[in-house]
Amino acid sequence: MNVFGTVKTSINTREAAARYGVEVNRHGKALCPFHNDRNPSLFVDDDHYHCFACGEHGDVIDFTAKLFGLKLYEAAQKLAYDFGITQDKPPTKAMQEKQNMKSEAQRLRENEKLCFSALLEYMKLLQEWKRLYAPRTPEEEWHPHFIEACDRLDYVEYLVDTLIGGDSYERNEVIELLMTDSKLKKLQRYLEKVKKEEKHIGEQQL
Ligand SMILES: [Zn+2]
Repeated sequence: MNVFGTVKTSINTREAAARYGVEVNRHGKALCPFHNDRNPSLFVDDDHYHCFACGEHGDVIDFTAKLFGLKLYEAAQKLAYDFGITQDKPPTKAMQEKQNMKSEAQRLRENEKLCFSALLEYMKLLQEWKRLYAPRTPEEEWHPHFIEACDRLDYVEYLVDTLIGGDSYERNEVIELLMTDSKLKKLQRYLEKVKKEEKHIGEQQL
């Protein structure tokens, strides 16, 4: 039997998923690592897997290949090696490097967390500014913070709402938007700067 056959008959897809960090619950469901999954959509059985949301499916070798960005033959070798069913050489350096690379889905989820926390912080700041710096008389000149809040609050609230309630396509659009031209980094720096200034003003007032 070649390595494909050996691997398929001796390694359970659930065991492989668990071993590679995809937690399968007792109903056989897991958060799908191949798309940005919120509710477990991935069904993992003994000899195959299927995602009801993104449609990914296959056997234990397909799963491993897709998860680590390996060719099928490399994935079979990796499984054989990781599960101790081969006397072959350990995986090549190139394969190990690929294994260390995070999967696309993992990166996406990490970026989403960063985007969400920055947008949420900015939204709260703008809400506060809108309240604190609202002109008290019609003659009073508008404070720049109040103007910024009026300009941007609706839009920022819309982005936060999308990340909370949007489908994966809509959420990805928001993430892509923030990842373009380092918008996320600029926003994070801006929030840092504002925090320092506010702290400074707070100290002056004491
Ligand atoms: Zn999926």
